[in-house]
Amino acid sequence: MYAGPGVKTSKDFPIPDKMKAWVLGNPGELKLTEKPVPVPKRAEVLVRIDAVAICATDLEIIDHGPPASIQGGKPFNKNFTPGHEYMGTVVALGPGVDEYKIGQRITVEIHAGCGQCKRCREGMYTSCHNYGLNYGDVDKGHRANGFTTDGGFCEYQVNNINTLVAIPDAMSDEEATLVVTAGTAMYGLTELGGLVAGESVVVTGPGPIGLLGVAVAKALGAQPVILTGTRDNRLKIGKELGADYVINVRNEDAVEAVKRLNGGKGVDYVVECSGAPNAVNEAVRMVNRGGKVCLAAFPHAETPVDVAHIVRNNIYLYGIRGEGKSATHRAEAFMSQKRFDATKIHTHTFALDDLPTAIRYAKDRVDDAIKVVVKARGVSAHRVAAE
Ligand SMILES: [Zn+2]
Ligand SMILES: [Zn+2]
Repeated sequence: MYAGPGVKTSKDFPIPDKMKAWVLGNPGELKLTEKPVPVPKRAEVLVRIDAVAICATDLEIIDHGPPASIQGGKPFNKNFTPGHEYMGTVVALGPGVDEYKIGQRITVEIHAGCGQCKRCREGMYTSCHNYGLNYGDVDKGHRANGFTTDGGFCEYQVNNINTLVAIPDAMSDEEATLVVTAGTAMYGLTELGGLVAGESVVVTGPGPIGLLGVAVAKALGAQPVILTGTRDNRLKIGKELGADYVINVRNEDAVEAVKRLNGGKGVDYVVECSGAPNAVNEAVRMVNRGGKVCLAAFPHAETPVDVAHIVRNNIYLYGIRGEGKSATHRAEAFMSQKRFDATKIHTHTFALDDLPTAIRYAKDRVDDAIKVVVKARGVSAHRVAAE
C-alpha cells in the first residue's frame, strides 16, 4: 500500500504503488516502463499528472542531453523521466504540508532551488548555485523536474510546494500546462524592468515563449508590441494574442521594419525568443539608445556579437533562465482573468502511451503543431486528437 512517514493521503484519491513512466535510454530513445510512485518529503506533495506539454527543451534533452543534468552528467541510461510542463491534482501531502489540499488542481513551475544559496535567497531560484546537486553526499535538495530530477512524462510526480501554482476550475488541463511558458515570458519582462506600460516591445521568434511573450507584454500595457518571425500561420496567432504589428523576416528586413513601425528610433525593449544565429546583433539594432534586450532562447552555436555597437549605445543585455521570481504566479493571474487566451497555441493532444507520436508532431511541426499536450487519462491511445 502506498504510504510514507508523515504522508497524508485520501480515500477519494487512491494511489497505486506503481505507475507508467517513460524513461530516456540512449540519445533519442524513450521507453515506456514502470516505476514506483514517488513519496513526498517535507515541503513536498505528490501530484497526479493530468496533462503535460512538450517543450522544445524536452526535444533537446532527449536528443542531446543538456540542459538536463542527472547525477552531475548527461541524462542517458539513468532511468530518467523527462518532461517539465505539467499540471495535475494534489493527491498526497508530505509531512507538515498545509498550504495545499488533496484534490486541489495545480500547475507547476520547474525549478525548486536549494533555498539556501545566494540566488535562491534573492528569488532567482532558476539560477540556483546548487543546480543539479541533489544526489549522494552533495545533496542540496535542488529539484528541477525534467532537468535534474524525474519529470512529467509519467503518471505521478513529487513537487516542492514552492513550485505549485493553484489554478481555477474554469482553466482547462491543456491551458494550465501553458502557465509556465507564459511565466517564462513574464520573467523576461520582469527582468527588463517590468513597467512596460506604454513602452514599445519587439518579440523575435513566434515559438511558444515568443507568442505568449506578446500576450504578456500586451497585458502589461506595452504599446506597440511587434512580433517578428518566418511563419505566417504563427504570426497570425501572434496578432490574435495582441501583437500590434507582425513582420515576416523572409519578406522584409526586420531591423528596418521595426524602426519604420516605431517612428525611426527603434523600440525600448526586445525579447529575443528565436535563438537565430544573428538574433543578438539584430536585437541590439532594433532597440533605441539605452534600450534593453532580454535573451530567452538557447542558440545552438556561439555567435560573434557587435560589442562596440552595444557599448556606444548603452544597450543592456539580459540572459534569463526559465521562470524565476514567482513570475509563473503573475502569469497565472493574467490567464485566470482571461487577459489573453493561451490556448491559441495548443494544437494537439495525445495519450501518454503515444508520447513518441506526440514528440514527432512537436519536432517536425506536423500539421502546424505548436504546443502538443499528452494526457494519461481521457484520451484514447493511437488516435490523433487535434483540437
Ligand atoms: Zn519548457
Ligand atoms: Zn539555490
